[in-house]
Amino acid sequence: MDIAVVGGGIAGLTTALALTAQGLPCTVFERSDSAGSEGFGIQLAPNAGRVLDRLGLGPALDAVAVRPVARELRRWDGTLLARTELGEAATRRYGAPYRLLRRADLLRVLAAAFPGPVHHGRRCIGVEEFRGGVELRFAGGGRYRAAAVIGADGLHSAIRGCIAVDDERPTGFAAVRALVPADPGEEPRIVVRLGPGGHLVTYPVGGGLRNVVGILPTGADPATFFAAAGPLAADPASFSAFAGPLAVDPASLFAFAGPLAGGVPAPLLDRPPLPKWHRGRLAVVGDAAHPMLPFLAQGAAQAIEDAAAIAAALRTTRGFDAYEAQRRPRVERVVAAVDAGRHGAPATLPDHDWIYGC
Ligand SMILES: Cc1cc2nc3c(=O)[nH]c(=O)nc-3n(C[C@H](O)[C@H](O)[C@H](O)COP(=O)(O)OP(=O)(O)OC[C@H]3O[C@@H](n4cnc5c(N)ncnc54)[C@H](O)[C@@H]3O)c2cc1C
Repeated sequence: MDIAVVGGGIAGLTTALALTAQGLPCTVFERSDSAGSEGFGIQLAPNAGRVLDRLGLGPALDAVAVRPVARELRRWDGTLLARTELGEAATRRYGAPYRLLRRADLLRVLAAAFPGPVHHGRRCIGVEEFRGGVELRFAGGGRYRAAAVIGADGLHSAIRGCIAVDDERPTGFAAVRALVPADPGEEPRIVVRLGPGGHLVTYPVGGGLRNVVGILPTGADPATFFAAAGPLAADPASFSAFAGPLAVDPASLFAFAGPLAGGVPAPLLDRPPLPKWHRGRLAVVGDAAHPMLPFLAQGAAQAIEDAAAIAAALRTTRGFDAYEAQRRPRVERVVAAVDAGRHGAPATLPDHDWIYGC
């Protein structure tokens, strides 16, 4: 029997790759019918980059990713508060580059590198432990026997529900995302613009596109909220000054009618801390273990760190205990830093060394 990985997202595929690199055979079960096609972007910080580079994915990622030269933190009116250089010196400092790319490209790179099977259209609905293994059950019938199960099935994880019972919690925030045209001549950088009760992040993702993420209070209308937040709407030029020229004016940013546009705010949920990340032959990684607000762009990065840690832990006699012992203190520190941003603390100020790992 091999190890079953439930969920073929960033956490699941990276876990599968890390297990394979440790010589541990595994099979991935993903509920969706096809590989991820989500268009929006993702920031891959150097702490994630180091793991992925060690798995041999650096060249494939570099073929599709943009390397930002800096991250800028600006007031809503465009005033520069801080600039963190992310170019070559940072790559040397952290041991891996900062990368910006489309999520679908990341999933494609991960899937292409995994030699084992990924079974699509298999939604796990329960597991039962038996002597020597675990049996997974799938919607629509079908079972699979595995030596152990790693739940990488996200915020609404079925595997987490087999370890402990808790509910998703509203955070009071929602996210709206869009892809808009980028200026071909612009300096590749991440710009975080802080507003009252919300913020806006933009960065290029390649292919002539820029990813925009707006964080705003749940229930607020994006166009009204971002227009009312300050001189942004009154002075589109100031928006351009902070984010580079855009083909759309800021107030209608999230109403952008292109085929890749987002526009509908999705409430951001999290869960209370999980008392144990594993039980018997079950364990969880990524958002299934520790969902967090996206304020530090670390959710996927921490999932990627989990993947390397759980695979290495399964090579030791302490198994899942070793995984949790290694990862929990670091994840709790990251979550605490993210949560500080809920109350307007400058969680995005450039003290990132401990996160990026030097
Ligand atoms: C607006 C926003 C911006 C973000 N930006 C960043 C960023 O820039 N950088 C960063 O590091 N993080 C970012 N994050 C966080 C990041 O998106 C998540 O932490 C990351 O996607 C978690 O990956 P995961 O694989 O654990 O979960 P998911 O991405 O949720 O993947 C779970 C997978 O499991 C599958 N699945 C679910 N249930 C089952 C089941 N029962 N059986 C089989 N399969 C199942 C799903 O279909 C999915 O493929 C952001 C989040 C948000 C909301």
